[in-house]
Amino acid sequence: MTSFALHGIGVSGGIAIGRAQLVSHATLEVAHYRISAAQVDAEIARFNAAVGAVRDELTSLHGDLAGEDMPGEFGAFLDVHWMILNDPTLADVPRRIIADQRCNAEWALTQQMQVLVEQFEQIEDPYLRERKADVVQVVERVLKRLMGSHQTLAPAAESHTILVAHDLSPADIIQFKQHNYGAFLTDLGGVTSHTAIVARSLNVPAVVATHNARQLIRDGEMLIVDGANNVVLVNPDRAVLAEYRLKQSERELERQKLKRLRTKRACTLDGVDVELHANIELPSDVDQAIENGAAGVGLFRSEFLFLNREGLPSEDEQFESYRAVAVGMKGRPVTIRTFDLGADKTKEGLAGLARVAPNPALGLRAIRFCLAEPRLFNTQLRAILRASHYGNVRILVPMLASVSEINASLAAIEHAKETLREQGVPFNDSIEVGGMIEIPAAVLALESFLSRLDFLSIGTNDLIQYTLAVDRGDDAVSHLYDPLHPAVIRLLAMAIGGAAKAKVPIAVCGEMAGEVTLTRLLLGMGLTHFSMHPAHLLEVKQRVLTSDAAASRVLVDRLRRADQPAKIAGLLDKLNA
Ligand code: PEP
Ligand code: MG
Repeated sequence: MTSFALHGIGVSGGIAIGRAQLVSHATLEVAHYRISAAQVDAEIARFNAAVGAVRDELTSLHGDLAGEDMPGEFGAFLDVHWMILNDPTLADVPRRIIADQRCNAEWALTQQMQVLVEQFEQIEDPYLRERKADVVQVVERVLKRLMGSHQTLAPAAESHTILVAHDLSPADIIQFKQHNYGAFLTDLGGVTSHTAIVARSLNVPAVVATHNARQLIRDGEMLIVDGANNVVLVNPDRAVLAEYRLKQSERELERQKLKRLRTKRACTLDGVDVELHANIELPSDVDQAIENGAAGVGLFRSEFLFLNREGLPSEDEQFESYRAVAVGMKGRPVTIRTFDLGADKTKEGLAGLARVAPNPALGLRAIRFCLAEPRLFNTQLRAILRASHYGNVRILVPMLASVSEINASLAAIEHAKETLREQGVPFNDSIEVGGMIEIPAAVLALESFLSRLDFLSIGTNDLIQYTLAVDRGDDAVSHLYDPLHPAVIRLLAMAIGGAAKAKVPIAVCGEMAGEVTLTRLLLGMGLTHFSMHPAHLLEVKQRVLTSDAAASRVLVDRLRRADQPAKIAGLLDKLNA
């Protein structure tokens, strides 16, 4: 067996040693095999059964439409899928292919999908052309049935198994929380894509953008994933394995030592108190937040309640999830971000998102989507407000760019309150409402935010993406994604300084907050609220405990005026010395 190394982007540190498990994605890697003449009827029956099952699924979703919570476009979207599923080009032609070519149903279906997609690509009308995405989605639904599972990921055979995939969606990764993978690798992905962010929260090593790991690695091969050094070693020899096992145990020892800081107050050497909060994706993440001494939840990415499930979560289901977090955090602040759906967090069934937007990161995402779907938004707001009766809950609105969006969000919250009041349902009437600063416009028009909102939270992942016009999920431009770009540093300093002057609390909840080499940079800008994945809390606390905020401020003032990358890097080194 030949040993070789693959390079990528380590999105999550640590070392994992284990055997590879390759995952297939429905349309990407459909098997092709021949069947005998005697098997043709059974294969066609299998195809018919899968189509029938998807038909039932769409019918039952239609039935749910009668419910209160369905967004307006949902029905139209279902109708389109229903028509595609029942069109002879998709319902009949694959049967003929199975019989004529004596091939398996999955292969026949994807062959026909290819033909249809090519036909759609020829259409001039841009709206109709985009319907090809619906064709692909319908085919994926049928493929999932044919493959006998709704789940994309199979459970890991053993806890050290390393998952190797071409690409994984954030929804796929969230399933890792139930399975016990030791690490994961993908061919695609950017450093702050949501896929990477969720991977980081699992506290397992991960390397993305390996380009061809999925092709080069075989099932069962021994791998070492070194997330900190952006490298994957395939079939390492004994000496290399032994060296990495040693490194692994040293790291584990360090982690154990850090645990002693769990209950220690986070305070700089010169007496500045710092609040370290946790970012969570699911209610079950509260345990990890508490274990790592989080002073609160600074960001609950509630949209993950939407993913990996059929239909939409009802008000009661959402309420139970929010209440569980509020109660689990035992009176500590719990900041629930309203749904940030869109861009790389999409879901079949939500028409506004399912449409292949020309530029999804700039499209109907986050608060824009919620304001376009008032019923869905109202359901979530009612659920959050109801949960506010059971703990210290705050509302955080993502991706705000303008005063009209702030006003519309506040009006929607007021409306949700009114409906609860009418029904005599208890909630915290003075619940705090905050806004995320993720778009440069929000920093440049900070006054409008400061005068209308109770607190702010800077989403650096998006702020960097939108400031530098670099897609956070695209590895082709990940070298341009730079948290230390002078423009980013200046925007951060403006937002933190502006909020401090106005005495409005401000936090950073993007990945920069959990990056220990940037802790002093943020402290030096005057930041005292950080929110990050629980796995990073203790390391950042250790850095806070050994930092002098006033000394950092002097260096950061110099750093803010620098524009040469080498000079900035040099000052950062000094800051971290
Ligand atoms: C951010 O953009 O920095 C952020 C915290 O939100 P998300 O990563 O979920 O977009
Ligand atoms: Mg964001």
